[in-house]
Amino acid sequence: MVLPVVRYGDPVLRKKGAKIETITPEIQQLVADMFETMKHAHGIGLAAQQVGRAVQLTTIDLRGVKDRPSRLWLAGQEADVESFMPLVLINPVVRPVGTRASGPEGCLSFPDIFGEIERTAEAEVTAQNERGESFSFKAGGLLARAIQHEVDHLTGILFIDRMDTETRADVQPDIDVLLAKTKVAMAKQAANR
Ligand code: ZN
Repeated sequence: MVLPVVRYGDPVLRKKGAKIETITPEIQQLVADMFETMKHAHGIGLAAQQVGRAVQLTTIDLRGVKDRPSRLWLAGQEADVESFMPLVLINPVVRPVGTRASGPEGCLSFPDIFGEIERTAEAEVTAQNERGESFSFKAGGLLARAIQHEVDHLTGILFIDRMDTETRADVQPDIDVLLAKTKVAMAKQAANR
C-alpha cells in the first residue's frame, strides 16, 4: 500500500525512532509499504518517520541511479551495489569514515527543496535486515550519503539541519512556505477527524 509521505512541519519527523525488538508481521508490512511508497514517490530512500512511524527502520533502493556512483564493501571486499539492493536497515548503527565531501540532497518530506550537504564519503554500517539477521558493510559514494541522510531521520535530524548557513538561508523562504502549507493541511486533517 502506498502511504502518505509526511511533510516538514509534522512533529513526527523530529521524533527519535524506537528500537525494533522483534520483526512482527506489522513491521514486515510496514517494510513492504515503505518500498511501495518510495517507488511511487520516485525516492531512493525513506525513513519510517516519513510515513508517520517513529521506529528504527529505513529502506533504500539505488537501482536505476546511473549518474551518481555508489560503492560497497562486504568483509573488506568490493561488492556489487545493484545486487545488494533493495536494502532494509533495522536498528542501524553508522560510523562515518573517510574524508568529508559535499553533494546535492533532496528529501521526500521537503518537495522541491535541494541543497549541498557535507558528509563523510564513506560509512561503516551494522544493521538488521527484515528477517532480523544482523549484517555489516561499508558504503561509499551515493550509497554512503543516502544511508547517512536516512539514519539521521531515525534520530529526528533533517538534512536542512546539516546545511551550511549560506545554503540554509537560500532555501529558508521555501521552507517557510512548506511549513505554512503543512500546518494548514494538518489543521484540516484534525478538523475532519
Ligand atoms: Zn529525507
